[in-house]
Amino acid sequence: MFVGHYGPALAGKAIARSVPLWALVFAVQLVDVAWGVFVANGIEHVRIVPGFTASNALDLYDMPLTHSLPAALAWAAGAGLIYAIWAPREKVRGGLVIALAVFSHWVTDLLVHVPDLPLWPGGPVVGLGLWDNYWLALALEMGVLAAGFAVYLRVTEPKGLVGRIWPWVFVALLVAAQQLNHTMPPPERVAQLGYTATATFILITGLAALCDLTRRPRAA
Ligand SMILES: [Zn+2]
Repeated sequence: MFVGHYGPALAGKAIARSVPLWALVFAVQLVDVAWGVFVANGIEHVRIVPGFTASNALDLYDMPLTHSLPAALAWAAGAGLIYAIWAPREKVRGGLVIALAVFSHWVTDLLVHVPDLPLWPGGPVVGLGLWDNYWLALALEMGVLAAGFAVYLRVTEPKGLVGRIWPWVFVALLVAAQQLNHTMPPPERVAQLGYTATATFILITGLAALCDLTRRPRAA
């Protein structure tokens, strides 16, 4: 899953309004940020096989440190703890929301991945395989993103004109990124794939920070 991950990030604002959107947006892709660096450096492994699923060319046959169930839980706990230490307010609530956001990655990946998510490192792999149905997978990504976006618009309000417009630009850019990801030929080298993925997730985090600058939580 790609932009569908951002649905839970946007919706997270409803649970802890002091948590910046950029932190939620980074959290939902945290394990993929690590995955990009890990595959680029041969710590985890992926094969680029054109046509591997209807949606992408990734044979994700070895990613125990980022996408096994216990690893996802550990990343979630670690990120939640770091957030709770760092946050000026809503430490516990905010930390829990960040942990949930990090773990939501595994849950949403479970829907689309073909069986490649290990229940434990070296253990059986799971995945419901929606990627094999391009339109269904795309509808799911867009549906989850749209639902999160609706929540975000409801629980925040613009500070001015830019805050009114920017969230729509942000979501439009996400949709464009999803389309680009599908139509561009897959990179030939795994290192290029990994670093491009990680850089993209960091760039999207920056774009989300502009939402934080231009909007504020609506009074509950
Ligand atoms: Zn993933």
